[in-house]
Amino acid sequence: MLESLIENNARWSAERRDADPSYFSRLAEIQEPEFFWIGCSDSRVPANVVAGLDPGEVFVHRNVANVVHSSDLNFLSALEFALEALKVREIIVCGHYGCGGVRAATENMPHGLADHWLEPIRRLARAYAVDLARCKDIEEQRDKLAELNVIEGVRRVAESPIMQRAWERRMNVRVHGLIYGLKDGRLRDLDCSLGPGHFERQGAL
Ligand SMILES: [Zn+2]
Repeated sequence: MLESLIENNARWSAERRDADPSYFSRLAEIQEPEFFWIGCSDSRVPANVVAGLDPGEVFVHRNVANVVHSSDLNFLSALEFALEALKVREIIVCGHYGCGGVRAATENMPHGLADHWLEPIRRLARAYAVDLARCKDIEEQRDKLAELNVIEGVRRVAESPIMQRAWERRMNVRVHGLIYGLKDGRLRDLDCSLGPGHFERQGAL
């Protein structure tokens, strides 16, 4: 298995160099991605592939069920680096339908450590229990919960002190929420984007 992976890589590297001899030397010098992607670890939702972006075009943080924990040092370090060093312009929280992490958060059985990780999704399920009860079946409920988790993630990114500081300095960065459909390979905008105005609204309160 590992040998075929390394062979695949050698073939890919040679193809890239054939198409553009300076490809790797250019990428090795600097990365200037426009996008910071916060997505699920699910192997079926690779950021570059589903967004049609090349290496160097998107800085990526992924975890189980794309949960934005306000105290996750891994996520916060990536966010700070994306804003301060890479100066990304667009931050994308991307969930997906059919998410195993969201499903685990709705099951009444123990999943070990994942139950701690997925706690924010359980909390959302309780908060939106009335809305979720209107869904026609459990699959639709979980997909709706996956959307709510993205919207909550966008809000948490926007309200993080790192993001607030960036907006205070007039950085023109926006945070968006997208959801990906495993069944059709399409990304959909959940229309929950927040920009520099979110800082001003906060400050006005
Ligand atoms: Zn997932």
